[in-house]
Amino acid sequence: MKTAQVYQDKIIIKEAEDITLQGRAGAIVKVLGCGLCGSDIVKFKHKIVHDGAVLGHEIVAKIIEINSDTDFKTGDIIVSSHHIPCGECKFCRHGNVSMCTHFKKTNIFPGGFSEKVFVSEEHLKNVAYKVPANLSYEEISFYEPLGCCIRAIKRCALMKDDTALIIGLGSIGLLMGEALKALGYRVFGCDLIGERIALANKMGIQAFSSKNLQEFTSIIKEKTNDYGADCIFMTSGADKAIDTALASVRQGGKILVFSSTPNNNGYPNNEIYYKELTVLGSYSPSPADLKESFELLSAGKINVKNLTTTYPLNQIQQAFDDTISNKIFKAYIKVSD
Ligand SMILES: [Zn+2]
Ligand SMILES: [Zn+2]
Repeated sequence: MKTAQVYQDKIIIKEAEDITLQGRAGAIVKVLGCGLCGSDIVKFKHKIVHDGAVLGHEIVAKIIEINSDTDFKTGDIIVSSHHIPCGECKFCRHGNVSMCTHFKKTNIFPGGFSEKVFVSEEHLKNVAYKVPANLSYEEISFYEPLGCCIRAIKRCALMKDDTALIIGLGSIGLLMGEALKALGYRVFGCDLIGERIALANKMGIQAFSSKNLQEFTSIIKEKTNDYGADCIFMTSGADKAIDTALASVRQGGKILVFSSTPNNNGYPNNEIYYKELTVLGSYSPSPADLKESFELLSAGKINVKNLTTTYPLNQIQQAFDDTISNKIFKAYIKVSD
């Protein structure tokens, strides 16, 4: 079977040994497509993975072999996430499921950018769903990333009519906007790239350029009765985005960190203290967040129609390059028909 493997600064299509169930519980799926996640880009760019690693976890796939206690059967087209929490450890009991050891250990094998993948019984039972007929494969491939957004929003415990500001309007920022809108919050956004601002506005997120910080913060103040935004969602990893967040958040507000920064810059002690800010991080979704994600997508409440650009598996390097150079919003790798 064909797989896309990372070798230093390249992604190479390589023939790998075919996989079958061999008596294991779970399913072998033929991958139809797989979304290219920001975390795949980080792993590739910063060489966090070993040579030969197969990235990709946002899969849409068809079951071709199954041995399972679930209702899934051969021929079903499913989405699945890649990690499952144990539900019992200290992390899980405190709701930090993505810190759970079992969560980090579980995965789909070898990775989504492969013609075939092994999905375990535990995955089928907890984080897999049949793709509904009303959505394209590209649309349902947002199942896992939308789960991440839903988790982030829940972490912020917003109140009705609260105002959210998304800093960074790439695909994950726009997806966050869709999720916030669907859950009933007022959403603003900012970015430095005109094309992103335009698309955000088209999608119903009131978006502005934050190039001139003073101008931008006065717009946000004006839109929020002089308070500032109740919660800031940091979907940009630019160091400057932190200044934008601190200037736009209301006193007593929250800043949700959803991205790494190149220089690991943090939030200043005194701003947090004097303004009584809450800074919190959100990483990966729980099965409950994923269930909500699946339901919102299935109900047609999340518009992701204009976000993806599709590449065949043998052009996956191009997809990585175009994502890194901000040429596209989100790549969807079509693996097979
Ligand atoms: Zn992802
Ligand atoms: Zn756990």
